Amino acid sequence: MSNSLKALAFGLALLGIDFADTSAGSLATASGRAAENNEEQSAREIKTLAVSDMLAGLHRLKFNAGSRNTGEAIWVPVLVVKGADTGPKLLLTSAVHGDELNGISVIHRLLQSFDFASLRGTLIVVPGVNQPGMNANNRHFVGSGEGGNMADLNRLFPGRLQGGNAAERYAGQLWHNVFKNNADFAVDLHTQTRGSDYPLFVFADFRNPVSKQMAFDLSPDLIKNDQGQKGTLETALMRAGIPSVTLEVGGPKRWQPDLVERSVTGLHNVMKGLDMLPGGKTISKIEPFVGAASVNIYTDVGGFAYIHVGLKDKVNKGQKVATMVDAYGAELASYYAPYNGVVLSVATDPLREPGAMLVRILY
Ligand SMILES: [Zn+2]
Repeated sequence: MSNSLKALAFGLALLGIDFADTSAGSLATASGRAAENNEEQSAREIKTLAVSDMLAGLHRLKFNAGSRNTGEAIWVPVLVVKGADTGPKLLLTSAVHGDELNGISVIHRLLQSFDFASLRGTLIVVPGVNQPGMNANNRHFVGSGEGGNMADLNRLFPGRLQGGNAAERYAGQLWHNVFKNNADFAVDLHTQTRGSDYPLFVFADFRNPVSKQMAFDLSPDLIKNDQGQKGTLETALMRAGIPSVTLEVGGPKRWQPDLVERSVTGLHNVMKGLDMLPGGKTISKIEPFVGAASVNIYTDVGGFAYIHVGLKDKVNKGQKVATMVDAYGAELASYYAPYNGVVLSVATDPLREPGAMLVRILY
């Protein structure tokens, strides 16, 4: 493609028009298609993603991840921004847990935040991995067996194409046909689960220096350096040799614009660090607290929780962090920090049953 055609392609891409489906070399065809697509903004259906075969520009896609019990397809939205110059492939996934939505806003904002013409390499984004969970307004993958059997998709990766249940197969479809072959680096966007909250927080395995660098480039409030957990997307990617981190963007079921904007700035830094975007990194005033372990303080009694600490608070061993009371307001139990550390998560739902988390401390 000539440079002027490339420039036109990027111009169209910026307007949200999928130039890449258009055969290069025909300006008349390109503008005709542009008008059509501008009206429909339709996504192209795919059964497998191969970004190496795609033309430069913006590609709006829908991945067929299998079918429901009615035979209808489960469509997963995918966007690919391919730069004119070859470079790294960065994968951003969101809502692997169906009620953790801030990452979708991060993706929307990120796509509006940089000039596609300046991109080197390829950005692959999935604004909503767990479609069955999102449909059911639920953290889990919700199948149709037994009136809606549930599975934690983020304990099933890399999944199994021939697995014995829908969730394993869904994870396998995504892994084999979208994630595995289209990522050199990845960030999996989550939030804390319902009834609780996180600040901006990164899980990263510092044994991999690229993952460590990505964690700091994201400029979160806290980082947990850990070796991952079997079945998470991050761990499956790491085991496949793809440096990855999990970015936790606040709490579930809402947009939090401040944390979303910080995530976008952090992702710019990650992309600059990978030489995908030009320019220097934005220096953050925030120095993240790094811990290697976390502890959950659970309630032993059901009742109403009063939490005495806030996110990111420093706590000392022995400090009272929560009180449980009954419906009459009488104290049932008090809970204390077992270590010196920083508050990573707090319960936001006051109703707590035995075994529910009150406070999580990173140390
Ligand atoms: Zn999650």
